Amino acid sequence: MPKVAGKWCQHCAIGSGCKTYDTRPQQCRAFDCVWVQDHEMAEAWKPEHSKIVFSVYPTTGFIYGQVDPGAPSAWQKQPLLNGLIAWSAKLLEERRHLLIFVGSNATLIMPTGPVPIGPMSPADGFIIRETFTAKGKDYIATRVASGR
Ligand code: SF4
Repeated sequence: MPKVAGKWCQHCAIGSGCKTYDTRPQQCRAFDCVWVQDHEMAEAWKPEHSKIVFSVYPTTGFIYGQVDPGAPSAWQKQPLLNGLIAWSAKLLEERRHLLIFVGSNATLIMPTGPVPIGPMSPADGFIIRETFTAKGKDYIATRVASGR
């Protein structure tokens, strides 16, 4: 299915669902977002409420959240942002990361807060560096293009 990340699918009826649900492609049938898979996730994380669809990146196990382009700042609202920060701390214990994408613009969520990366593709990597500022420990994240 030719669908560009961060853009609405041509079959999506915004606010009501898939216009071709009964005949949707296999990729769509096979896809379960993290909210569907994780029965302990609160209702507030359901994509229709949070405006974020979370998926597990297969090769790393990192969690990637794609924000509804119609609500690009949804992830920055409380209590969602604090929930993302707490989630990132739990994932770090497993050496996993949480990234939020608004279109192709990525932000790494760390226990200290959001760390902007900028434009990247989910296939790209990134480097995290620890910094020490007057406010305490912080991080800088830099994209590493895929294929390097
Ligand atoms: S389920 Fe698939 S075909 Fe239907 S709107 Fe979503 S991406 Fe498009």
